[in-house]
Amino acid sequence: MRTMKAVQVAKAGGPLEVVERDVPEPGAGQVLIKIQACGICHSDALTKEGQWPGLEYPRVPGHEIAGVIDKVGAGVEGWQAGQRVGVGWHGGHCGRCEHCRRGDFVLCQRALVPGISYDGGYAEFMVAPVEALARIPDDLSDVDAAPLLCAGITTFNALRNSGARAGDVVAVLGIGGLGHLGVQFARKMGFVTVAIARGQDKASLAKELGAHHYIDSTAVNVAEALQALGGARVILATVTSGKAMSAVVGGLGLNGKLIMVGLSEEPVEVPIAQFIMGRNSVQGWPSGTSADSQDTLAFSALSGIKPMIEEFPLTKAAEAYDRMMSGAARFRVVLNTGQ
Ligand SMILES: [Zn+2]
Ligand SMILES: [Zn+2]
Repeated sequence: MRTMKAVQVAKAGGPLEVVERDVPEPGAGQVLIKIQACGICHSDALTKEGQWPGLEYPRVPGHEIAGVIDKVGAGVEGWQAGQRVGVGWHGGHCGRCEHCRRGDFVLCQRALVPGISYDGGYAEFMVAPVEALARIPDDLSDVDAAPLLCAGITTFNALRNSGARAGDVVAVLGIGGLGHLGVQFARKMGFVTVAIARGQDKASLAKELGAHHYIDSTAVNVAEALQALGGARVILATVTSGKAMSAVVGGLGLNGKLIMVGLSEEPVEVPIAQFIMGRNSVQGWPSGTSADSQDTLAFSALSGIKPMIEEFPLTKAAEAYDRMMSGAARFRVVLNTGQ
C-alpha cells in the first residue's frame, strides 16, 4: 500500500496537522488524482472551524484542486491516467433530486463539496467522482489553475451569465481574491471595465489588471461616478459587506443588475423607485459546475488571465491558511504540492 502526506483537521476548531495516510483507492465512477496544487479559500474555514452542519472528522480541506489522474475506477469512461484535471466547489451531484432533474447540478440538494463531504486537496492524493472533473489546458500551470477553480469560476460564470454585452459598462466592486480576477475577465469579455476599491493605491493595480476606469470609493460618490459613465449594466459585488453593496446600487443604469458573489450577513438596501423605473435587479450567483470550471480554465489560458498568488509547500499548510485568513495575503494563497 502506498502512503501519502495529507493535512487534516481532526475536530472542529482543531489545528491543521500533517499526517501520513494510505493513498485511497478510486471506487466505481471515481478517479484517483495526484495533486499538484490546491488553493486556500476563505470557505475552508467551514471545515477547519466546523461551520458546516454534519461535517465528519477527521477531514482534509481544500476545493481548489489541480492535479493529474493517477488511476481510474471501475466504469469510468472518457478519462484516463495521465490527464491533467481540476476539481472545484462542485464536487459531485446526485442526478436524481428536483434541482438535478432540471439540470441545475451546482444547486443539487445532495451536492458534494471536496474538503467538506469528502477529503479534499490539502494532500498528495485524493479521490473524486468523474462528474467533478474539469480538464486543465496544457498552457496553464497547476498553481495558476487552482484558484481559478473557485475564485475564478465564480466571477467568470457570474459575468458570462449576467446579460451584459460587449461595450456595456461592467463594474467590479472590490479588488481582492475574487475581484482581481473579475476585473481581468470583464476586460477580456469586452466590457467597459470599471474597478471600484478603497484608496488611491489600488488605482495602478486596477489598470494593470485591465480596468478602463478606477473609482476610489473613499474619495468620490461611486453611484455618481458610475452614472457619469452612463450607468452600470452590471455591478459584480465581490466585497463581503452588505453596506458597501448598498452604497453603489445607485450607479446602476437601465436594466442594471447588482450581482452578489461576496458573502455578508448584512442585508442589501435598494432604492425602490430607481429599481422600478430603471428595471434594476439584484441577484446572487453560486459559482458553477465542473463544465463551467473547464470553460473558466480554457478562457483564462486563451486570454492570458492569471490569479495573483503566494505559494507554500503542502507541509506549511497551517501557515498558508493563517496567511489567507488573516488577510495578510491580498489575493490568493496556493499549496504547491507538485513542486
Ligand atoms: Zn472557495
Ligand atoms: Zn441532485
